Amino acid sequence: MPMSRPRTIASLRFFELHLHAEKMPAQNKELFERIWSGAASLEEWTAFVAGGAARPIADNAFAIHTGYLFGNVSAIRTGEGLVLFDAGSRETAAQTLAALRRLDDSPVYTVIYTHGHIDHIWGARLLDEEARARGWLQPRIIAHRNVLRHFQRYDETHGLNSTVMGRQFNQPGYVFPSEHRRPDIIYDETFDIDVGAVKLRLSHGRGETDDATFVWWADKHILFNGDFVIWVFPNAGNPRKVQR
Ligand SMILES: [Zn+2]
Repeated sequence: MPMSRPRTIASLRFFELHLHAEKMPAQNKELFERIWSGAASLEEWTAFVAGGAARPIADNAFAIHTGYLFGNVSAIRTGEGLVLFDAGSRETAAQTLAALRRLDDSPVYTVIYTHGHIDHIWGARLLDEEARARGWLQPRIIAHRNVLRHFQRYDETHGLNSTVMGRQFNQPGYVFPSEHRRPDIIYDETFDIDVGAVKLRLSHGRGETDDATFVWWADKHILFNGDFVIWVFPNAGNPRKVQR
Protein backbone atom coordinates (compact mmCIF):
# COMPACT_ATOMS: atom_id res chain seq x y z
CA MET A 1 0.00 0.00 0.00
CA PRO A 2 1.41 3.45 -0.89
CA MET A 3 2.63 5.41 2.09
CA SER A 4 0.42 8.32 1.10
CA ARG A 5 -2.73 6.41 1.96
CA PRO A 6 -3.70 6.30 5.61
CA ARG A 7 -3.96 2.92 7.24
CA THR A 8 -6.53 2.22 9.84
CA ILE A 9 -6.18 0.10 12.92
CA ALA A 10 -9.43 -1.04 14.41
CA SER A 11 -7.97 -1.47 17.82
CA LEU A 12 -11.01 -3.33 18.86
CA ARG A 13 -12.79 -6.52 18.40
CA PHE A 14 -11.78 -7.16 14.88
CA PHE A 15 -8.45 -6.50 13.31
CA GLU A 16 -6.73 -4.01 11.15
CA LEU A 17 -8.34 -2.89 7.96
CA HIS A 18 -6.19 -2.71 4.86
CA LEU A 19 -3.11 -2.84 6.99
CA HIS A 20 0.40 -3.93 6.29
CA ALA A 21 -0.61 -7.09 4.60
CA GLU A 22 2.97 -7.58 3.54
CA LYS A 23 3.99 -8.06 7.17
CA MET A 24 1.47 -10.78 7.88
CA PRO A 25 2.46 -14.41 8.05
CA ALA A 26 0.93 -16.20 5.08
CA GLN A 27 -1.45 -18.24 7.22
CA ASN A 28 -2.62 -15.11 9.00
CA LYS A 29 -3.12 -13.21 5.77
CA GLU A 30 -5.06 -16.04 4.21
CA LEU A 31 -7.44 -16.09 7.17
CA PHE A 32 -7.82 -12.29 7.03
CA GLU A 33 -8.79 -12.52 3.40
CA ARG A 34 -11.38 -15.22 4.06
CA ILE A 35 -12.90 -13.26 6.95
CA TRP A 36 -12.95 -10.08 4.88
CA SER A 37 -14.80 -11.83 2.07
CA GLY A 38 -17.23 -13.51 4.43
CA ALA A 39 -15.91 -17.01 3.77
CA ALA A 40 -14.65 -17.49 7.33
CA SER A 41 -16.39 -16.74 10.61
CA LEU A 42 -15.14 -14.38 13.26
CA GLU A 43 -15.13 -17.31 15.65
CA GLU A 44 -12.41 -18.78 13.47
CA TRP A 45 -10.36 -15.67 14.07
CA THR A 46 -10.90 -15.92 17.82
CA ALA A 47 -9.69 -19.53 17.77
CA PHE A 48 -6.67 -18.44 15.74
CA VAL A 49 -5.54 -15.92 18.35
CA ALA A 50 -6.66 -17.89 21.41
CA GLY A 51 -4.47 -17.18 24.40
CA GLY A 52 -3.26 -13.87 22.95
CA ALA A 53 -1.31 -13.20 19.78
CA ALA A 54 0.97 -10.24 19.03
CA ARG A 55 2.46 -9.45 15.69
CA PRO A 56 4.22 -6.54 14.04
CA ILE A 57 2.16 -4.08 12.01
CA ALA A 58 4.97 -1.61 11.26
CA ASP A 59 8.50 -0.99 12.46
CA ASN A 60 8.30 -0.93 16.28
CA ALA A 61 4.53 -1.30 16.32
CA PHE A 62 2.42 -4.31 17.25
CA ALA A 63 -1.17 -5.42 17.30
CA ILE A 64 -2.21 -7.75 20.10
CA HIS A 65 -5.32 -9.85 19.65
CA THR A 66 -7.30 -12.03 22.00
CA GLY A 67 -10.49 -12.47 19.99
CA TYR A 68 -12.96 -10.58 17.87
CA LEU A 69 -15.65 -9.68 20.34
CA PHE A 70 -13.83 -7.36 22.68
CA GLY A 71 -11.12 -4.76 22.59
CA ASN A 72 -7.67 -5.47 21.28
CA VAL A 73 -4.55 -3.54 22.13
CA SER A 74 -1.93 -1.91 19.92
CA ALA A 75 1.55 -0.88 21.01
CA ILE A 76 4.43 1.28 19.80
CA ARG A 77 7.97 0.81 21.01
CA THR A 78 9.77 4.12 21.70
CA GLY A 79 13.03 5.22 23.27
CA GLU A 80 11.14 6.08 26.46
CA GLY A 81 9.14 2.88 26.71
CA LEU A 82 5.95 1.52 25.24
CA VAL A 83 2.89 3.45 24.20
CA LEU A 84 -0.25 1.32 24.41
CA PHE A 85 -3.57 2.01 22.78
CA ASP A 86 -6.02 0.56 25.28
CA ALA A 87 -5.30 -2.06 27.88
CA GLY A 88 -7.69 -4.96 27.37
CA SER A 89 -10.57 -6.21 29.44
CA ARG A 90 -10.67 -7.86 32.85
CA GLU A 91 -10.94 -11.17 31.03
CA THR A 92 -8.21 -10.59 28.41
CA ALA A 93 -5.69 -8.31 30.13
CA ALA A 94 -3.42 -11.09 31.36
CA GLN A 95 -3.32 -12.73 27.92
CA THR A 96 -2.69 -9.36 26.33
CA LEU A 97 0.20 -8.53 28.63
CA ALA A 98 1.76 -11.96 28.22
CA ALA A 99 1.59 -11.64 24.43
CA LEU A 100 3.12 -8.17 24.60
CA ARG A 101 5.94 -9.38 26.82
CA ARG A 102 6.83 -12.11 24.35
CA LEU A 103 7.68 -9.31 21.92
CA ASP A 104 8.97 -6.52 24.13
CA ASP A 105 10.00 -6.28 27.78
CA SER A 106 10.34 -2.53 28.20
CA PRO A 107 8.22 -0.49 30.64
CA VAL A 108 4.84 0.83 29.58
CA TYR A 109 5.30 4.59 29.57
CA THR A 110 1.94 5.78 28.25
CA VAL A 111 -1.50 4.26 27.80
CA ILE A 112 -4.09 6.01 25.66
CA TYR A 113 -7.70 5.02 26.29
CA THR A 114 -9.60 5.14 23.02
CA HIS A 115 -12.76 5.34 25.18
CA GLY A 116 -14.01 4.21 28.54
CA HIS A 117 -15.60 0.86 27.70
CA ILE A 118 -14.44 -1.80 30.10
CA ASP A 119 -12.98 -4.06 27.42
CA HIS A 120 -10.53 -1.27 26.58
CA ILE A 121 -9.53 0.09 29.95
CA TRP A 122 -9.75 -2.44 32.68
CA GLY A 123 -6.37 -4.04 31.98
CA ALA A 124 -4.64 -0.83 33.04
CA ARG A 125 -4.84 -2.10 36.60
CA LEU A 126 -2.63 -4.99 35.58
CA LEU A 127 -0.11 -2.58 34.07
CA ASP A 128 0.02 -0.68 37.35
CA GLU A 129 0.61 -3.93 39.23
CA GLU A 130 3.39 -4.90 36.84
CA ALA A 131 5.07 -1.51 37.25
CA ARG A 132 4.94 -1.79 41.03
CA ALA A 133 6.34 -5.32 40.97
CA ARG A 134 9.21 -4.37 38.67
CA GLY A 135 10.06 -1.05 40.26
CA TRP A 136 8.99 1.01 37.26
CA LEU A 137 7.10 4.28 37.22
CA GLN A 138 3.35 3.84 36.92
CA PRO A 139 2.19 4.25 33.32
CA ARG A 140 0.66 7.63 32.62
CA ILE A 141 -2.80 7.26 31.17
CA ILE A 142 -4.34 9.77 28.79
CA ALA A 143 -8.01 9.98 27.88
CA HIS A 144 -10.71 12.38 26.85
CA ARG A 145 -12.38 14.25 29.70
CA ASN A 146 -15.69 12.42 29.21
CA VAL A 147 -14.08 9.12 30.23
CA LEU A 148 -14.20 10.41 33.80
CA ARG A 149 -17.93 11.04 33.51
CA HIS A 150 -18.45 7.55 32.17
CA PHE A 151 -16.51 5.98 35.03
CA GLN A 152 -18.56 7.99 37.49
CA ARG A 153 -21.75 6.75 35.89
CA TYR A 154 -20.48 3.17 35.89
CA ASP A 155 -19.97 3.44 39.64
CA GLU A 156 -23.40 4.95 40.22
CA THR A 157 -25.23 2.38 38.07
CA HIS A 158 -23.21 -0.71 38.87
CA GLY A 159 -26.22 -2.99 39.36
CA LEU A 160 -27.83 -1.88 36.10
CA ASN A 161 -24.61 -2.44 34.17
CA SER A 162 -24.22 -5.92 35.64
CA THR A 163 -27.74 -6.84 34.55
CA VAL A 164 -27.51 -5.36 31.06
CA MET A 165 -24.12 -6.88 30.36
CA GLY A 166 -25.28 -10.28 31.63
CA ARG A 167 -28.22 -10.17 29.22
CA GLN A 168 -26.25 -8.87 26.24
CA PHE A 169 -23.60 -11.59 26.54
CA ASN A 170 -25.88 -14.28 27.97
CA GLN A 171 -23.98 -14.57 31.23
CA PRO A 172 -26.45 -14.76 34.14
CA GLY A 173 -24.87 -13.50 37.34
CA TYR A 174 -22.34 -11.34 35.51
CA VAL A 175 -20.79 -8.71 37.78
CA PHE A 176 -19.66 -5.50 36.13
CA PRO A 177 -16.06 -4.50 36.98
CA SER A 178 -15.46 -1.64 39.35
CA GLU A 179 -12.51 0.49 40.43
CA HIS A 180 -11.69 1.58 36.92
CA ARG A 181 -8.21 2.99 36.57
CA ARG A 182 -8.68 6.74 36.13
CA PRO A 183 -6.61 8.63 33.57
CA ASP A 184 -3.75 10.82 34.78
CA ILE A 185 -4.11 13.31 31.94
CA ILE A 186 -7.36 14.39 30.32
CA TYR A 187 -7.90 16.63 27.34
CA ASP A 188 -10.82 18.25 25.54
CA GLU A 189 -10.31 18.60 21.78
CA THR A 190 -6.84 17.58 20.66
CA PHE A 191 -3.67 16.63 22.47
CA ASP A 192 -0.20 16.16 20.98
CA ILE A 193 2.36 13.92 22.60
CA ASP A 194 5.98 13.13 21.80
CA VAL A 195 7.21 9.94 23.38
CA GLY A 196 10.79 9.06 22.58
CA ALA A 197 10.52 10.94 19.26
CA VAL A 198 7.25 9.24 18.33
CA LYS A 199 4.79 12.04 17.69
CA LEU A 200 1.10 11.29 18.07
CA ARG A 201 -1.97 13.47 17.80
CA LEU A 202 -4.98 12.54 19.92
CA SER A 203 -8.34 13.87 18.81
CA HIS A 204 -11.73 13.70 20.45
CA GLY A 205 -14.56 12.13 18.50
CA ARG A 206 -18.13 10.99 18.98
CA GLY A 207 -19.43 7.71 17.63
CA GLU A 208 -20.13 4.63 19.68
CA THR A 209 -19.58 6.86 22.72
CA ASP A 210 -18.92 10.53 23.34
CA ASP A 211 -15.62 9.96 25.11
CA ALA A 212 -13.69 8.60 22.14
CA THR A 213 -10.13 9.34 21.13
CA PHE A 214 -8.61 8.51 17.79
CA VAL A 215 -4.86 8.80 17.36
CA TRP A 216 -2.96 9.78 14.22
CA TRP A 217 0.65 8.66 13.86
CA ALA A 218 1.56 11.00 11.03
CA ASP A 219 5.08 9.70 10.43
CA LYS A 220 3.73 6.24 9.66
CA HIS A 221 0.32 7.24 8.29
CA ILE A 222 -1.39 4.99 10.81
CA LEU A 223 -4.67 5.77 12.51
CA PHE A 224 -5.59 4.06 15.78
CA ASN A 225 -9.35 4.33 15.62
CA GLY A 226 -10.62 2.43 18.64
CA ASP A 227 -14.22 1.37 18.21
CA PHE A 228 -15.06 3.81 15.45
CA VAL A 229 -14.53 1.00 12.94
CA ILE A 230 -15.44 -2.54 13.92
CA TRP A 231 -17.01 -5.30 11.88
CA VAL A 232 -20.06 -3.15 11.36
CA PHE A 233 -19.96 0.44 10.28
CA PRO A 234 -20.90 2.92 11.50
CA ASN A 235 -20.65 1.72 15.06
CA ALA A 236 -23.55 3.61 16.59
CA GLY A 237 -23.47 2.01 20.02
CA ASN A 238 -24.69 -0.96 21.98
CA PRO A 239 -28.19 -2.19 22.67
CA ARG A 240 -29.88 -1.19 25.91
CA LYS A 241 -26.98 0.91 27.05
CA VAL A 242 -26.55 4.60 27.61
CA GLN A 243 -24.56 5.78 24.62
CA ARG A 244 -23.64 9.28 25.60
ZN1 LIG B 1 -16.59 0.39 22.83
